Amino acid sequence: MGSGQVTSSVPSEFQGKHVTVAGLGVSGVPAAKVLHGLGAHVTVVNDGDDDRARAQAAELEALGVTVRLGDGDSLPEGTDLIVTAPGWKPDKPLFQAAEKAGVPVWGDVELAWRLRGRDGRKAAPWLAVTGTNGKTTTVQMLASILKAAGLRTAAVGNIGVSLLDAVLGEEEYDVLAVELSSYQLHWAPSLRAHSAAVLNLAPDHLDWHGSMEAYAADKGRIYEGNRVACVYNVADKATEDLVREADVEEGCRAVGFTLSAPGPSQLGVVDGILVDRAFVENRHKNAQELAEVSDVNPPAPHNIANALAAAALARAFGVPAKAVRDGLRSFTPDAHRIALVAEMDGVAYVDDSKATNTHAAEASLAAYESIVWIAGGLAKGATFDELVAKSAKRLRGVVLIGADRALIRDALVRHAPEVPVVDLDRTDTGAMLQAVQEARRLARPGDTVLLAPACASMDMFTNYNKRGDAFAEAVRELGAG
Ligand code: ADP
Repeated sequence: MGSGQVTSSVPSEFQGKHVTVAGLGVSGVPAAKVLHGLGAHVTVVNDGDDDRARAQAAELEALGVTVRLGDGDSLPEGTDLIVTAPGWKPDKPLFQAAEKAGVPVWGDVELAWRLRGRDGRKAAPWLAVTGTNGKTTTVQMLASILKAAGLRTAAVGNIGVSLLDAVLGEEEYDVLAVELSSYQLHWAPSLRAHSAAVLNLAPDHLDWHGSMEAYAADKGRIYEGNRVACVYNVADKATEDLVREADVEEGCRAVGFTLSAPGPSQLGVVDGILVDRAFVENRHKNAQELAEVSDVNPPAPHNIANALAAAALARAFGVPAKAVRDGLRSFTPDAHRIALVAEMDGVAYVDDSKATNTHAAEASLAAYESIVWIAGGLAKGATFDELVAKSAKRLRGVVLIGADRALIRDALVRHAPEVPVVDLDRTDTGAMLQAVQEARRLARPGDTVLLAPACASMDMFTNYNKRGDAFAEAVRELGAG
């Protein structure tokens, strides 16, 4: 059931309240409908006034919701509460006005959190995941493990399935695997997860948050009030610092994951086996085998880290070791995330179009020994020195595409001057075929041609999916030709 149809038989705390919904769109329209169904007087404010917004406005107005298009900045008179789209920047005048007037601001996640357990529905606990990279994969692995344990669950949140639908729909869940973005966490002050993980922290979205500190602080909110475990990345100290700063329930434990042998209260890897030294009897002496590295798909280092984080959350929820293995085995990653497209003449062609920032591309490049790297696109203010310096020894060659390729080329000149570089001076969609042809020319048997652009795709493609599709198409054409 979609959240649009939700109405409640129970008198609600929203009855007669004046709620302003900030932003039409993915979260705004369902939020407006739900709040209207709960008896609130809803006004939607939206910056844009285009055809799409007008169509959405007409739909809401037919229900009795007020919509103001082209004015997302002024606070409607008498507002008791703002429910905002997560992407709206905290420094917008609307929020300044709200602060002055003492009006609380919630995001879509906060609304869902407050509405769970209504009308006799079970309030399923949340196992929550955030991080700069790996969120979607980890949440899907987690859901797969929970399902293997026979639990009713779904992967929800910043992943395409709305939390409002999950919380208010007819389907009952035992537990939810929830992906949360830093924006969503910023606007979710009262969220209290059963257990949560921050996978990693690298500079991202700093224009929105204002600073790295503010970004980290918003990510860290995921640990607030955790009951059983705060899961952190041993290799990324910033995630452990966030655990230390969090105010958690009595008895909640810090649990680390590592690609090395785990210490007590950690999950890690020993001789190709994922082991748990956190959720076992006598963790100072004992370890529990969970799965083999080869059960993780694909078994790239960063993805093994994702699997360990998912396993830690599942184990915190009491899932047996066997379900971790079964869940990891039955998991298939979404498209464009280290997907093997083809093997030709001993060369593997791998699509990691989802590597849209340098941190993701670094993880991707670390997964292969000898690489012809296809990179470039929109840099979004990133610098490439660290990425190139760390990856230089693995590079057989590089093919550059896209608007900001000069930034990568300059970093290659500085840190990998002997690596051959083909600089394609074109940003049309057809450039991908030429890029793949050039990559094939540079590759030797045993190499991997890796599309891990470290950049956004919008200079050449509608999105990263289309970029990955173009790569796969080009590889197929090469094979046929
Ligand atoms: P998110 O939902 O956080 O964007 P995804 O699971 O969709 O993460 O993965 C996005 C990209 O990030 C992948 O294609 C891969 O290149 C990279 N990635 C995945 N997991 C990690 C990780 N643990 N550390 C670094 N990079 C990762």
